[in-house]
Amino acid sequence: MPKMANETLKQELGNAAWKLLHTVLSRYPEEPTTLQKNYLTQFISSFAQVYPCGDCARHFRKLLNKYPPQLSSRITAAVWGCHIHNQVNERLHKEIYDCSHILEDYDCGCGTDELESDFTLGGASLKGSKESEGNEIVKKENQVDDKEQSNKKNSDSDEVSEHLKSIKIESSENKVGG
Ligand SMILES: Cc1cc2nc3c(=O)[nH]c(=O)nc-3n(C[C@H](O)[C@H](O)[C@H](O)COP(=O)(O)OP(=O)(O)OC[C@H]3O[C@@H](n4cnc5c(N)ncnc54)[C@H](O)[C@@H]3O)c2cc1C
Repeated sequence: MPKMANETLKQELGNAAWKLLHTVLSRYPEEPTTLQKNYLTQFISSFAQVYPCGDCARHFRKLLNKYPPQLSSRITAAVWGCHIHNQVNERLHKEIYDCSHILEDYDCGCGTDELESDFTLGGASLKGSKESEGNEIVKKENQVDDKEQSNKKNSDSDEVSEHLKSIKIESSENKVGG
């Protein structure tokens, strides 16, 4: 992949690409199946191969080797992505982002969609993960009101803060704090 000489286009592409990556990670299931983990692993690996800025892609692949994707849960994946982006920020002398807001900042607004079976995820529901639970979960959809949504958002945020205290972003060389 060639270098991107036009800095403006490189920045615009970076903005859009990070937005996509963080939004995907923030919508990843809380309890992913092996299939879902495989899809995301392939996505990240392909992303690093096809990213149009050649220098960025090369650097990103090095980061992936050093900090392999951590995909055991939504929070883990989102915080991992945040950490990787912060590594790039550090290299480019940009501000370090506070990862405790990551799920709120990249909430796709998919809300109740998460209760339905989703064929982009092999027919599973993000909540239930198991296809057989799909019908029950869809029935529950109408019971989810705005209050529950807002409570969930708060508890997501608390959960992220708790998780940040405990998470260690695994490096293939050593372990560092998230
Ligand atoms: C995989 C990848 C590798 C890249 N490698 C390079 C490179 O090697 N050299 C180069 O010049 N450019 C690289 N870029 C582009 C670079 O990271 C920026 O996108 C670009 O410089 C524009 O920066 P920005 O300040 O507008 O914000 P960006 O870094 O594009 O971030 C966009 C927005 O995301 C939010 N944000 C910031 N940090 C985080 C975080 N840690 N987690 C979640 N959200 C955050 C902020 O709101 C920010 O405004 C890369 C981009 C990608 C996607």
